[in-house]
Amino acid sequence: MTWKDNLRDVEPYVSGEQPKLSNMIKLNTNENPYPPSPKVAEALKTIDSEKLRLYPNADAEDLRTALAAYYGLAENQIFIGNGSDEVLSLSFLTFFNSKKPVFMPDISYSFYPVYAELYKIPIRTIPVQTDFSLKKEDYFAENGGVIFPNPNAPTGILTGLDFIEDILRHNPDVIVLVDEAYIDFGGKTALPLLEKYENIVITRTFSKSRSLAGIRLGLAFGSPDAIARLYDVKNSFNSYTIDHVAQAVGLASLSDESYFQSTLAKIVKTRETFIKDLKNLDFEVLPSMTNFVFVKHAKLSGQTLFDALYAEKIIVRHWNHPRIKDWLRITIGTDEEMTKVIRFLENYLNGK
Ligand code: PMP
Repeated sequence: MTWKDNLRDVEPYVSGEQPKLSNMIKLNTNENPYPPSPKVAEALKTIDSEKLRLYPNADAEDLRTALAAYYGLAENQIFIGNGSDEVLSLSFLTFFNSKKPVFMPDISYSFYPVYAELYKIPIRTIPVQTDFSLKKEDYFAENGGVIFPNPNAPTGILTGLDFIEDILRHNPDVIVLVDEAYIDFGGKTALPLLEKYENIVITRTFSKSRSLAGIRLGLAFGSPDAIARLYDVKNSFNSYTIDHVAQAVGLASLSDESYFQSTLAKIVKTRETFIKDLKNLDFEVLPSMTNFVFVKHAKLSGQTLFDALYAEKIIVRHWNHPRIKDWLRITIGTDEEMTKVIRFLENYLNGK
């Protein structure tokens, strides 16, 4: 026996590539193509570096107060973490302890099974329908919790609030976790359900719609009891909350609603044009309420298209999962970037 025999054996989450080359069109990890609000740049300039000597405000009080006002919630219904991946990880640790399997769709965010494995939480992955939608009855059997993104990732498909409410009604004794990483791009949030159900927890991120993937800011909304438990778990091993800089940046972003709405509108408009153009090139495109599209060509395989785009320095996302191996997920970039993608695809497909 050596120390190596005692190492934890975990299959890691493989994220999209983060290339160093600046001449690439990077459409593989759903970042926002626009910079964050100019108020963020101003806030960064006014940060007093002398203050960084001190630990940050552990409760992120100012940010929590601003978030409560923004979302119309009480402060004790809001948890703030270092990106929603951290919030999701703490949620697995906090909420999914019943030893019964946690239900989640297959296809879905591929990080969920990684957390489950890491924390030894049993799961049941439930195949999505042939049109990639979820079937609510699949989530009614006895379980240790339910988690799904809404809109789903990587499919982009939005699930309605009636559906979520039915799942909540059939699962009163477990937490139903709705990951709303992409909700700002046209989806209907489950936030109103917080008034009626104690067992719903909703996560959000500043990474996508607020163009702030480069700082780590994620949120959970839930009943005061659920949120208090998240803080208990966080403080057990990660006692200091988000850093001083991220708190200031988050506040600045929240204070600029008109900039936020204008970038959202631009991305949605680009998405709709891009979808039309792709359909003209014989792509099947799933309905998207996100800043990405999930697409499949009538004739060419996912790998062939991925490779062709990559050779052109256009990076998109492709999975080897058997059910989606012919699909690509393409993040919505600027109009200019998406026009380049379409021009390239036109030429490439014409040459086939
Ligand atoms: N949930 C989903 C569905 C995602 O696609 C992502 C981004 N990869 C996240 C959560 C995590 O985002 P972040 O940690 O940047 O907040």
